[in-house]
Amino acid sequence: MVNLPQNAKALYDYLRQALSQSHDPDCADLDARLILEKRAGVTYIDLLTQSSATLSDAQLEHIQSDLALRLKGMPIAKIYGEKEFWGRAFAVSEDVLDPRPDTESIIEAVLKWYKANAAHYASRPLRLLDIGTGSGCIVITLLKEIAEAEAVAVDYSWPALMVARQNAARHDVVNRLSFVQGDYISAFGHDSFDLIVTNPPYIPHADITNLSESVKNYDPILALDGGIDGLDPYKKIFISIKNNLRPNGRLFLECGFDQIEAINRIGINLGTNLERIIYDLGGHARGGEFSCGDK
Ligand code: GLN
Repeated sequence: MVNLPQNAKALYDYLRQALSQSHDPDCADLDARLILEKRAGVTYIDLLTQSSATLSDAQLEHIQSDLALRLKGMPIAKIYGEKEFWGRAFAVSEDVLDPRPDTESIIEAVLKWYKANAAHYASRPLRLLDIGTGSGCIVITLLKEIAEAEAVAVDYSWPALMVARQNAARHDVVNRLSFVQGDYISAFGHDSFDLIVTNPPYIPHADITNLSESVKNYDPILALDGGIDGLDPYKKIFISIKNNLRPNGRLFLECGFDQIEAINRIGINLGTNLERIIYDLGGHARGGEFSCGDK
């Protein structure tokens, strides 16, 4: 027996109210809109313009069950198996981190760098490496935005690589993207790249228990836990970066809001330069652009 308002606008208000009691009350409005769009095809514009749309019992049943899962902590992206990133939909599963808006700041920074340096890649394709690709949202977005670029995507997790492959097919970049299962060092080999991007696990081990339910119970720990200080992946990446970054190449990394200085110290010891700090929408230092000295 479903006990929800049948009118779309009334249901939107009901869902927003109910979802404000979830583990992520800040997402209540967006989640309510996503549920209505997914289950009833009612867009936000519809809600603003035609408040008389009526939902069927079947639609309401789905929505009731989505609401129950969301109130238990499951993120909307995990309920529907899909999340939007840089304007495109990506498949997600329990094996990959949900793409985050913060990571779009990294994309923005890479594309800015690329625009200023596109002339270098007029006569040959840019080569890109994504370390810890997860859903593939970073590398696939960059392949869509940088015509002709070629990429390698690395992940420890085989199931994550399967999700990334599915997303590559969905966005029609399989012919420019290869996948490698491995850890940071072995994945590099002797190959060299113009651009290396990474959003590695960076949460300090002891902080994992304090993450919100919807993160710690639904995002894979492998994609979150960065060791005692959260910096393990960066230490591994910087050790081999000099051998793998081409002249004029760049490493763009995402990190925790208070980590860029410590990461820069690791990099300085290994001969890299922090060219730019990347800020997220909340104004936090969410990443960095590093070079090994342009030649
Ligand atoms: N930004 C994510 C979070 O705070 C963590 C992502 C990561 O470890 N790479 O939940």
